[in-house]
Amino acid sequence: MIDLHSHTNESDGSLTPKELIDLALRTGLEALAITDHDTFSGYEKALPLAQAAGLDLVHGIELNSRVNSAPAARYAHILAYFVSRAPGAAFVSWLTETRRERAERNEKLAASLRANGVEITLADVEKRGRSLTGRPHFARVLVEKGYAKSLEDAFQRYLGEEAPSYVHRDSLTTAETVALVRAGGGIPVVAHPIRLGMDRAAERVFLEEAKAAGLLGLEVYHSEHSPALQQYYLGLAGELDLLPTGGSDYHGPSVKPDIELGTGRSGNVSVPLAFLTGLRAL
Ligand code: AMP
Ligand code: FE
Ligand code: FE
Ligand code: ZN
Repeated sequence: MIDLHSHTNESDGSLTPKELIDLALRTGLEALAITDHDTFSGYEKALPLAQAAGLDLVHGIELNSRVNSAPAARYAHILAYFVSRAPGAAFVSWLTETRRERAERNEKLAASLRANGVEITLADVEKRGRSLTGRPHFARVLVEKGYAKSLEDAFQRYLGEEAPSYVHRDSLTTAETVALVRAGGGIPVVAHPIRLGMDRAAERVFLEEAKAAGLLGLEVYHSEHSPALQQYYLGLAGELDLLPTGGSDYHGPSVKPDIELGTGRSGNVSVPLAFLTGLRAL
């Protein structure tokens, strides 16, 4: 069993890189990819621990990309795997710039929340986020301070696109993101296609266009994909000549308690080792 999609507390997961590696070893994973949002620091901290324990750790990341613009803005998450080459210098400097823009957005978001009557400082939020602070960390603080009942409620009332205090952050388009990953020596994969929220025809067109821009894979197995949907995406990946991949999208027990590393939600994820062999063969 392998897991090609997981997060540490260097982004919005709750386990430290060491705790995640320990869990992977207890779970008996043959390989694990750490795919934190916008940062490699969880992977970098975990690598020496994985090497010492003989766990095959895959270098990965998860990036946000824009499918189209307002009024019906949609976003696609792109997983990037660096299995044969370390990320190129241009990719790494783009990431650094992205994190700087994110830090600016975070400052504006804290100010916007204060303007909307919420007593919050960026320092409150940054205590939860290590190398990457994002809206999920804002959501936790809003819940702790009693401004929201749940993370979902915090997004609805304060952090999501419909909320009055929402602050926009620019993303590259999916085609640009895919091209950037390829230029940086990575393998771009569309993550959890179910979350695109498209009908099947629109989703297929989107994937065909992304493939024309350099997309190489589709995440078939995922905690939010039912067995029937996994079969559908496996067929679609075959038809579009995209490499099938998969993972649990593990975020840790205090973020998504119903999702297990390696096996997903109620055991709905089981990723064959052959998928990693496929990535390596590209
Ligand atoms: P950011 O990259 O800081 O703008 O935050 C985006 C992240 O927030 C996404 O990757 C999701 O994990 C999370 N997110 C976005 N919308 C929601 C929502 N409605 N409920 C819960 N989490 C959300
Ligand atoms: Fe996440
Ligand atoms: Fe995602
Ligand atoms: Zn993820």
